[in-house]
Amino acid sequence: MTTIRQITILGSTGSIGESTLDVIARHPDRFRAFALTANNNFDKMLAQCLRFQPRYAVMLDPDSAEKLAHSLSSNGSHTEVLSGIEALERVASLPEVDAVMAAIVGAAGIRPTFAAARSGKLVLLANKETLVMAGRIFMDLIKQYHATLLPIDSEHNAIYQSLPSHFDGDFATAGVSRIILTASGGPFRCTPIDTLKQVTPEQACAHPNWDMGQKISIDSATMMNKGLEVIEAHWLFNASPDKIQVVIHPQSVIHSMVAYTDGSVIAQLGNPDMRTPIAHAMGYPDRIDSGVDALDLFKVAHLDFEQPDFDKFPCLRLAYQALSAGDNMPAVLNAANEIAVDAFLKRRMTFTDIPRMIEHTLHAIGQETISTLDDVLKTDAHARVIASEWLLQSI
Ligand code: NAD
Ligand code: MG
Repeated sequence: MTTIRQITILGSTGSIGESTLDVIARHPDRFRAFALTANNNFDKMLAQCLRFQPRYAVMLDPDSAEKLAHSLSSNGSHTEVLSGIEALERVASLPEVDAVMAAIVGAAGIRPTFAAARSGKLVLLANKETLVMAGRIFMDLIKQYHATLLPIDSEHNAIYQSLPSHFDGDFATAGVSRIILTASGGPFRCTPIDTLKQVTPEQACAHPNWDMGQKISIDSATMMNKGLEVIEAHWLFNASPDKIQVVIHPQSVIHSMVAYTDGSVIAQLGNPDMRTPIAHAMGYPDRIDSGVDALDLFKVAHLDFEQPDFDKFPCLRLAYQALSAGDNMPAVLNAANEIAVDAFLKRRMTFTDIPRMIEHTLHAIGQETISTLDDVLKTDAHARVIASEWLLQSI
């Protein structure tokens, strides 16, 4: 007999949040949506609350929260509505919560994700930015509070599944020689480098294989997403940068691989649908139905591989450099990238300005050690100011 796992979804109205609710709906005997949270998407949140009847709903935006509370009470719902960042932290830490799906996009997710770790929860981590900004601090916290961390990002979930179950971060003992992180190459894989300056946000958001939120779609187009994932893999699996190899695999069927010293390579395959890694982590250690179609290898027919082009996609190079430098550099990279993606989406700068802004911010701030969450948040705020100033001065 399984007990019901009570789940808080941070970012329930997003792409990962909706896929998580889809998996929950398939298993009412296993999971219950305990708390749903969002920024300000009132319509979606209202529909989710009416369908899933969570104990709590949190909207960061107070006006949206007020509107939601009003609509829910007139519908006879018992969901309690809260607002603000402290409420996000609270619903990630309440004693009734078994697992927290960390699926807020960007640096905004770090505080509630930290709260979940500090409360010893099962943390299902989609918000890779938390590990990029504060990898060492976050991993220490997971250990200190006996929390459990399972990766949702499809590549990291694939690596997790391809590593031995007793893996403790020691490559030599486990006989692991390297991690092979696959990347689709994004919508501009075949676009000539000299035409990248003219690409539009609509073209950049049109990912060939995955249907995702706007920010991660742009990150995939610049390949910063793969850069952030290299940093994420470093912290999750204790892998040094030279042991993480990025391979372009346009079909997105192999989600990543682990190479062993005896020459074996273990891979995880599946259709590109986030419900597979979500169901894997939510049901762990059981295997449960995710709603994803069985992989049809005859339809796939070909699996192709290419070298990544670091000249065409400088964001990937910048991420490797930030990881090797360490300290505050990955947090600066992440913050500058968020400002850059936002400016590109608002048509305030071109696609090729994205790495320029990030490189400038990394140089302007310079390397410094960081040891607390507070340091990380200060670094994040500082980098945002420097990146925004660059935009005003150079465009
Ligand atoms: P999304 O934009 O679709 O959804 C983001 C969610 O976060 C929404 O519910 C939104 O209301 C909430 N949110 C945004 N800003 C907030 C704020 N300031 N405070 C509180 N909540 C806020 O994003 P997504 O594509 O679902 O991605 C979520 C996270 O998962 C990201 O870190 C992304 O890198 C990661 N991820 C996504 C995918 C994918 O397929 N979408 C795959 C791997 C990893
Ligand atoms: Mg990924």
